[in-house]
Amino acid sequence: MKNANYDLKLFLSSKKINSRITELGRILSDDFINRNPIFLGVMNGSFMFMSDLMKKISIQCEIDFIKIHSYIGKKSTGKVRLLSENTLDLEDRHVVIVEDIIDTGNTAKYLMDIFIATNAKSISIVTLLMKSGLTGLNFNIDYIGFEIAREFVVGYGLDYNQKYRNLDSLYLLKKKNKLDI
Ligand code: IMP
Ligand code: MG
Repeated sequence: MKNANYDLKLFLSSKKINSRITELGRILSDDFINRNPIFLGVMNGSFMFMSDLMKKISIQCEIDFIKIHSYIGKKSTGKVRLLSENTLDLEDRHVVIVEDIIDTGNTAKYLMDIFIATNAKSISIVTLLMKSGLTGLNFNIDYIGFEIAREFVVGYGLDYNQKYRNLDSLYLLKKKNKLDI
């Protein structure tokens, strides 16, 4: 797949993504049986993952979304902004935050702080992707789809400047070698 300045190189096919999501759905359904968890999708990046994961949840659950923003281009701004809040009351509930990717961990820390203040009964995080080498989180990321190297990936909901979210697989975004043009 081509773009003016970047080459997209297939990283994880939709088939591989979906088979891992089937496993995650089974594990989460076992862990949260009889707990009526609230799955909280973090928009925009997690919209495809959330949709496919929820289809693999076989227990009673509720679904809500929040919208945050932390990225400009390929660099984390370090600041996380809450653009839209959840609507369900989380007090005394088992909350499972559904993220697309954890990179610096800033977003995860920010979300943990917010949701601890809601008096939820438990807060877990499931992320499709986790970049390797992250240290310094004082909580666990309980459910990880794939641990990946520190490279920038797009597709399957993840963007670069709002583009590529629609692709059904994950791709590495590589700057085009000037000699190739
Ligand atoms: P963190 O706060 O640095 O952990 O980054 C979290 C957010 O940054 C994710 O939810 C993504 O929206 C975005 N992000 C981090 N790495 C990538 C990437 O490789 N591709 C696309 N988005 C990314
Ligand atoms: Mg995100």
